[in-house]
Amino acid sequence: MGDQLHDACGVVGVYRPGGEASRIAFFGIFSLQHRGQESAGIATFDDSHREHLHRGNGLVAGVFNEYDLENLPGELAIGHTRYSTTGITSVENSQPIRVSGPNGTIFVAHNGNIVNSVALREELEEKGVRFLTTSDSEVAAFLLAYSPGLTWEDRIKSFMTRAQGAYSFTILTDEAVYGVRDPHGFRPLCYGELDGGWIIASETCALDNVGGLLVREIEPGEILKISSEGIATTQGIVKQKQFCIFENIYFSRPDSILNGGRVYSNREKMGAQLFRESHVPADIVTAIPDSAIPASIGYANESGLPYRETLIKNRNSGRTFIEPTQALREAGVRAKYTPLVENIKGKKVILIDDSVVRGTTTRQVIKLLRTAGAKEIHLRVSSPPIKFSCHYGVDMPNPDELIASNRTLIDIQKELGVDSLAYLEMQGLKQSVNGSSDSYCDACFTGNYPVPVQLELGKMVFESPKK
Ligand code: SF4
Repeated sequence: MGDQLHDACGVVGVYRPGGEASRIAFFGIFSLQHRGQESAGIATFDDSHREHLHRGNGLVAGVFNEYDLENLPGELAIGHTRYSTTGITSVENSQPIRVSGPNGTIFVAHNGNIVNSVALREELEEKGVRFLTTSDSEVAAFLLAYSPGLTWEDRIKSFMTRAQGAYSFTILTDEAVYGVRDPHGFRPLCYGELDGGWIIASETCALDNVGGLLVREIEPGEILKISSEGIATTQGIVKQKQFCIFENIYFSRPDSILNGGRVYSNREKMGAQLFRESHVPADIVTAIPDSAIPASIGYANESGLPYRETLIKNRNSGRTFIEPTQALREAGVRAKYTPLVENIKGKKVILIDDSVVRGTTTRQVIKLLRTAGAKEIHLRVSSPPIKFSCHYGVDMPNPDELIASNRTLIDIQKELGVDSLAYLEMQGLKQSVNGSSDSYCDACFTGNYPVPVQLELGKMVFESPKK
């Protein structure tokens, strides 16, 4: 893995009267490509209750062609794009996952991480379930398939009493699509109207991109059903809002709406707050592109300093996590950004980044700016220091690899090679997002995990041979 954080996945669910739901699902997951680039898949049920599935490794546009979409008929579809948080990268671990149980076959698309999946898997294995993959999502899918209840709503409610952690699901049966969000609502999920039908998606940008009309975000603990019978909703379990605050900082697309607020505006507010908390005299404000741009514009507007682009990102640099050595990682950064020397030379620069993980990318970017002639570089980070790992669906390094986990501010400043360094205070961050401050998970900054986690449980938990 490189120096960037990866969100687990993007999910979509569609009911489209007249058919071709898979085409909407395709454009939906295409819009959610930023949430996962390892694999993609779409499952459908047609009018004759026959199932269809196509999935593979790679980007959405590479996994599907016209022929593949023609062979995914039906009014009901779910789609998924994946970055793995549990399990290796393989076609078997790609989603939607197909499972069969006493109540028939279902397909499941999952964004999140089930933190008690080891215990649940052992329990299901004792009942005779044979697992085909190494992902916690398959555990979730089988638990759903084997949960008791007369209806799928009942079974999902039963599932919710057993599974702990983060899950935003779309679930496909031969009669309906369900959108389900865990009681904390760690990962986003919303729904909208489209062509007389409905679409469920991880982010509102997916609705916008297919011409859908946002109705609202799905509530934590809510079960939403879409089908030819219309739309039905029920509260499956008591909600305890703990939205992932990192969705606002980095993961979600800036044009998406989270908890009622536009992500772009929230990032601008973070930048403005960063100015109020930690400004030093400078000539320009600039950003490490792309995700830090809104925060740097917010900082520039609040400070009255000009915002200048100083780094042009190679838009084809794409995924950077096949980087086996430090030397190649550093070369990767040089291939990714080109400095605009005339905007940098002789300038005192306020450099905005949205987060610093290991510090590898940030350090290299600072070297590039120094080489281009920056007089001073003052790094301002629009989030607090990341000190702990995420166990709710974001792929983060172990704490000992995080630059801020056991270093002082001065140590980090020296390590990164900047003239000054400041992070956004937690209070300032929470003032910049919508809703009450206690409705957000901030565990990767504070270590206050809203759902107990086994800290030793890693991504490859099911890959190790049993002792
Ligand atoms: Fe989000 Fe951090 Fe909480 Fe994970 S630990 S859900 S990344 S805020």
